[in-house]
Amino acid sequence: MSLSETLSQERRARLAAERLLELKQAELFEANRKLSQHARHLSDEIIVKREETEVLRDENIRTKEDLEKANTAVHIAERRLWDSIETIQDGFAVFDPSDIMIAANPAYLRVFDGLDDVRPGISYPEIVRLAVEEGIIDIGELSRDRFIEQAITRWRAPVREPHTIRLWNNQFVKLVDRRSSDGDMVSLGLNITSTIRYEERLKKARSKAEAANRAKSAFLANMSHEIRTPMNGMVGMADLLSETELNEEQTLYVDTIKSSGEALLGLINDVLDYSKIEASKLTLHPEPFDLERCIQDVMVLLQPSAAQKGVDMIIDYDMFMPTNFIGDPGRLRQVLTNLIGNAVKFTHSGHVIVRVVGLPEETGKRQRVHVSVEDSGIGIAPDMIDHIFGEFNQVEDERNRKFEGTGLGLAITRQLVQLMGGDIWVDSEEGVGSCFGFHITMNVTEDAKPMPLPSWMHKAALLDHINANSLILEKQLTALGFDVSPFDNIDDLLASPLDAQVYLIDNNLPETNIEHLIATLRERGVTAPVLLMTSGPVSTRSPKIEDARTLQKPLLRSDLWRTLTDLVPVDPKEIDTSDQSDRRMRILAAEDNKTNQLVFGKMLKALDIELRFANNGREAVELYQGFQPDLVFMDISMPEVDGKEATREIRTLELNTGIHTPIVALTAHAMAGDEKDILAAGLDHYMTKPLRKAAIIDRILMEHPESCRPIMPEEPTAAPEPPTPPSTGMNTGTSADSGVMAGA
Ligand code: ADP
Repeated sequence: MSLSETLSQERRARLAAERLLELKQAELFEANRKLSQHARHLSDEIIVKREETEVLRDENIRTKEDLEKANTAVHIAERRLWDSIETIQDGFAVFDPSDIMIAANPAYLRVFDGLDDVRPGISYPEIVRLAVEEGIIDIGELSRDRFIEQAITRWRAPVREPHTIRLWNNQFVKLVDRRSSDGDMVSLGLNITSTIRYEERLKKARSKAEAANRAKSAFLANMSHEIRTPMNGMVGMADLLSETELNEEQTLYVDTIKSSGEALLGLINDVLDYSKIEASKLTLHPEPFDLERCIQDVMVLLQPSAAQKGVDMIIDYDMFMPTNFIGDPGRLRQVLTNLIGNAVKFTHSGHVIVRVVGLPEETGKRQRVHVSVEDSGIGIAPDMIDHIFGEFNQVEDERNRKFEGTGLGLAITRQLVQLMGGDIWVDSEEGVGSCFGFHITMNVTEDAKPMPLPSWMHKAALLDHINANSLILEKQLTALGFDVSPFDNIDDLLASPLDAQVYLIDNNLPETNIEHLIATLRERGVTAPVLLMTSGPVSTRSPKIEDARTLQKPLLRSDLWRTLTDLVPVDPKEIDTSDQSDRRMRILAAEDNKTNQLVFGKMLKALDIELRFANNGREAVELYQGFQPDLVFMDISMPEVDGKEATREIRTLELNTGIHTPIVALTAHAMAGDEKDILAAGLDHYMTKPLRKAAIIDRILMEHPESCRPIMPEEPTAAPEPPTPPSTGMNTGTSADSGVMAGA
């Protein structure tokens, strides 16, 4: 091999070695880079881990602190709980589900003072056994075994009522035991000795008070009875005295004695009743009676005082309810008299409605009867409602003070209703009215009979200006099978087809001449019978047309039915429009003084006339319209509306009828100018007080309408004084028969 070849060989070898070296160096460098990268990564991870560890350590410390705090709180709470439980005076113990005592407070353990065995670890049955054997519990009539058995049975029952035991030292403990959801039993022993002692004292005081009350009632009963006897004597004697020959003044005295005596007797009867109820002596005397008639009787008695005020009295007796029941009618009447009497007493205008409905009980032989008495009176304030049923309690305010009463009525009424097994209540709104209601259950003695109508009656026309009245009557007539057309004024009635088979007309329609109305109906060919409904005593001035029958309000269903079935249509030939009449002369006297009214009445007692009094001018105008007097005596000075004003109003009313009623003024003083004034007001004559009988009779004779009966049964024997000339109106008579009608 040549040198150059050798040299080139060597150069190639060196070059190859150098390339290898470069390659190795590059690899080494790459490995180095990776190594350092990994080292950096590792060191980062170490840092993160270190930080995490530090957070965990902090958390650990905090948790540990929290736990310590919670432990302390639990400890404190437990200590407080036990402190409290230990402090309370009542016994407290806890038992595990197998009835072993876990803990008990000193009050619980104190009961077993001296018995070391009673402590946590003892079982409940063992405690009971020890308590009984050591005589700690008073076991009463029971044997020891029986007592223990009962106590353990109670303890193990699923639910336990509290149970009171008596200890040897006369202390009373009420046991209240309750099982918790995990089966533990918490047992409380409450010392109720003082409550029991208090109850005993109350019981003693109550029975003492009851005894005193019974004694009081018995005393009242005796007293009332004792007073009643001489009172009866007085009232009876006054009654006899009033029938003897007395002059006007004496009559007035005797009448006052009588009415005061009667009022006093009523009061004593109230007290007697009340004390009888209190002394539990009052017994009911049930017998068959007619409930509807009983209510009507009461209402008819109270009707005059209601009519005086223009208060309408209405019965709404359920059409489908029987009326014959077994009950104590006397006592029921007393209840009704009180409620309806109060309703009339506390109502100045409007109505008093008695509603009766019955609910048959299951057997059908008994009915629960609801009676309500509704008025449109002064009402009762809400805070007084509970008060009024109390004894001697009355609402005392301005509006109420003027009413008389004992305040016993409702107390008695409530007791009577309760005695009958019922209940009473009231609903009232001041200034609007009251509604007193009660219910009692009674045996029925008869089924409600269907009331068939005569076959020719289908349609009824009803004319009544009072809505409540009209509604109730319409309901009753509809229930009887009528097709009813109600009217509240004459014009509407006359404008109707007039095809009813019966006309029911309120006799007290304001500003209405009923006779005239009936005559108009007849003129228009109405032959159907007319039924007049009147409040107050049935008027003797029944219309001339013979088929007009009169029914007194409040209407009784059976009366209404009986009258309706009795009616017959009028024979057109019999319609008599001539003016023949045999009615009594009607005289209206307006006078506010009761004594003067009494005297006036006595003076005219012997005359065959119909005399009515108005207490003031307003009443005079009202009465004038319904009563349609032939002559009016009008006192001039009266409260509310005076005589002159009343006369003016009457004269205005007369413009519609074309009638002129003579009106005679009664004045206390005849002063110059009075006469002119009086005559200017529309009065026809005037008389001065004191009035004398002869002069009054004279005036009546002068105004006596020919169509009326003579005012004296026989012609007066003594010649009346010469008639007073109407122009002067002065009373010049000299008769000794002078009255005492004093100036008002
Ligand atoms: P008296 O009517 O004798 O005072 P009550 O016991 O019958 O006694 O009534 C007690 C009171 O209840 C009455 O004084 C009156 O204040 C009130 N009261 C009773 N009924 C009504 C009524 N219908 N409207 C308004 N107040 C009444």
